[in-house]
Amino acid sequence: MRRVAVVGGGLAGITAALALADADCSVDLLERRPKLGGLTHSFQRNGRWIDNGQHVFLRCCTSYLRLLDRLGVRDQVHLQQRLDVPVRSGRYGGVGRIRRNRMPAPLHLGPALASYRWLSVAERVAAVRAALAMGRVDRTAAETDAQSFGGWLAAHGQDARAVEALWELIGIATLNARADDASLAVAATVFQLGLLERTDAADIGWSLVPLQQLHGDAALRALTAAGAEVRLQAPVRGLQDNGGGWSIEGERYDDVVLAVPPADAARLLPDGAVELPAGWAEALGSSPIVNAHVVFDRRVLDTPFIAGVDSPVQWAFDRTLQSATSEDEQYVAISLSAADGLIDTPVADLRELLVPALRQLLPAAADARVKEFFVTRERHATFRPAPASGRFRPVASTNRAGLHLAGAWTATGWPATMEGAVRSGEAAAASVLSASRPSTPAVRFEDTAS
Ligand SMILES: Cc1cc2nc3c(=O)[nH]c(=O)nc-3n(C[C@H](O)[C@H](O)[C@H](O)COP(=O)(O)OP(=O)(O)OC[C@H]3O[C@@H](n4cnc5c(N)ncnc54)[C@H](O)[C@@H]3O)c2cc1C
Repeated sequence: MRRVAVVGGGLAGITAALALADADCSVDLLERRPKLGGLTHSFQRNGRWIDNGQHVFLRCCTSYLRLLDRLGVRDQVHLQQRLDVPVRSGRYGGVGRIRRNRMPAPLHLGPALASYRWLSVAERVAAVRAALAMGRVDRTAAETDAQSFGGWLAAHGQDARAVEALWELIGIATLNARADDASLAVAATVFQLGLLERTDAADIGWSLVPLQQLHGDAALRALTAAGAEVRLQAPVRGLQDNGGGWSIEGERYDDVVLAVPPADAARLLPDGAVELPAGWAEALGSSPIVNAHVVFDRRVLDTPFIAGVDSPVQWAFDRTLQSATSEDEQYVAISLSAADGLIDTPVADLRELLVPALRQLLPAAADARVKEFFVTRERHATFRPAPASGRFRPVASTNRAGLHLAGAWTATGWPATMEGAVRSGEAAAASVLSASRPSTPAVRFEDTAS
């Protein structure tokens, strides 16, 4: 029986560990924190369950949905029957909608784009043309990765308004970067797989329970039932090559999967294990996400979420159910991606900025009293998907026998998402099971994804 250590209990490590345990390996999962789930976790505050940040997924996140099935929690998420995003303006009344019909892609978005009220008619026509051109971008080419998404949009006739009210509305939330700061290849992955290739791909899903319950707690149960040993509060400080295997704190393993963030991987990887330029982890970098949590004394939001334009509020979600907040009140989480400018802003200043902005988007909130306002900050929420960042994203197999990598930041082609993390875990498990060695080709996520 192959003995495998998986280091890191986020979605990537959980996926790899489960796949390996299911394949009859003897698996130890070593996680530094007291719980599993990594960047998707929850805590309690004043009797409410709070997620560290709102998470959504799309119907095209097939690997993530498969993981939910394996964890037995698929009934604890909601997936829209049909994509529908209400978009409100901080300046003008009315609701714009990004939604689909049942036509084959990309026609399924045509009527919504043609009537999208936050763009002029000329901007809508230009947006349709650019969307069709986006469908033809070669997302796997290195030249595409080197280009900026913002530069491509400008070259395809998208003015500042179209970028703000349409492309970045989706782009900032999925890429965690502004268009000018994002690789065209990563953006094309999101728009092609999410919006342009399949009619139902962009239907949005979200958890109906706290993320901790959906991922970390369910994974602990599933891993234990599959015979894996989960060790919490078990930080790995080093790996020793024992010739034909690896040792961690004196325990011997045939294989190790490092499913930790880039900076931790760079510290733990032996010299020459990956062919990346020196300083690759710093060069890849990270990008922050801030969530502002607002509890109102009454209901103010009549849909599960809204997106905002002409507003500092990017997206706002109804969190009343998941947090176990009383139905007389309403708990709304404002999600702010690519939040470099806000990550260190004091809570009082965020409140002054965001509560009036939310009231502008939600007329029903005009007279509502704010009972609680607090903020969660994730400084290293995702890697920075900058132009040419692909060269800092290694594949699952390394140059060292028995050493494998996973994590949303590895070479999945996706931005840092739950889907990317799960795909990377699948690729790492495949790398272990194919007993890949330096002479064999590297395992890429394309080899394992369905
Ligand atoms: C606020 C926020 C909002 C987000 N929104 C979305 C969204 O809407 N949709 C979406 O798809 N994605 C979203 N993401 C991204 C998504 O959460 C991540 O891409 C994904 O969870 C990363 O999983 P991972 O397993 O690759 O990494 P991580 O979750 O970072 O897991 C790595 C684990 O390794 C552990 N570790 C590190 N070093 C060691 C060590 N030496 N020894 C042992 N353990 C170690 C860490 O404690 C951690 O548990 C969001 C992220 C954040 C922070």
